Amino acid sequence: MDHSQPITTLQEIYLLYDEYLSSLAPGAIACRKTCADCCTPNVTMTRLEGLLIRKSVDREQLTARLPDISSTPFPRYRPALSTNGYVLTCKSGGDGDPESFADEQSQEGDPSVCPFLENNLCTIYPVRPFGCRCMLSTRPCAQTGCADIDELTLTVSTVFLQLIEHIDKGGFFGNMTDVLYALSCDPTNAFGAHTVIANHPIPALMVPPEHRGRIQDIVFSLNRLLAGQPPAP
Ligand code: SF4
Ligand code: SF4
Repeated sequence: MDHSQPITTLQEIYLLYDEYLSSLAPGAIACRKTCADCCTPNVTMTRLEGLLIRKSVDREQLTARLPDISSTPFPRYRPALSTNGYVLTCKSGGDGDPESFADEQSQEGDPSVCPFLENNLCTIYPVRPFGCRCMLSTRPCAQTGCADIDELTLTVSTVFLQLIEHIDKGGFFGNMTDVLYALSCDPTNAFGAHTVIANHPIPALMVPPEHRGRIQDIVFSLNRLLAGQPPAP
């Protein structure tokens, strides 16, 4: 199947998010080059994001970076629900926990780092998944031990996550390592190996009432992008 158009759409979505970030007040985000405490093995992404990485990164480099999960324990977060899966569960009256773990290997990773980090720099930075892009903090995480993100940016990031999953209908979602493995081994057996979970279309946007007015321009631009139209001037 040709994924070039959805991959182009994904890259346009990334650009739109960059525009949102550059519209924030100077100093609103503390994240800096080589600040990498957040680069853990727990990043999640969609199949399409994995396809973009595979398309852009030298195959040998990619293989060399991936841990051998078949023979070596590699503690990592493996989500039980995708973002839209969580919304769907809530709409159905369930109490889905997006942080719930899918199986016994799903412990928060040990303090080890993302396999793509080298000298505190991301080796796949231009094509890093959205889960990395929206990992932001208003103050250096080293100060408090955790990220601190403002509520509006959290809402905007969630809408982007929902859309990125939506455009990969029929695809899958999971830990970054699992998704890359599923793509490199046998994508048709990805679900059989229980390493990834199915994507869902957007059931409803997760936007609290107090943010609806403030993000309507972003939702408008995202809708235009989905319809194949250029962003609003
Ligand atoms: S999220 Fe935290 S650790 Fe990651 S770049 Fe930003 S400030 Fe640094
Ligand atoms: S892919 Fe890059 S930005 Fe994301 S966690 Fe790994 S090293 Fe950090």
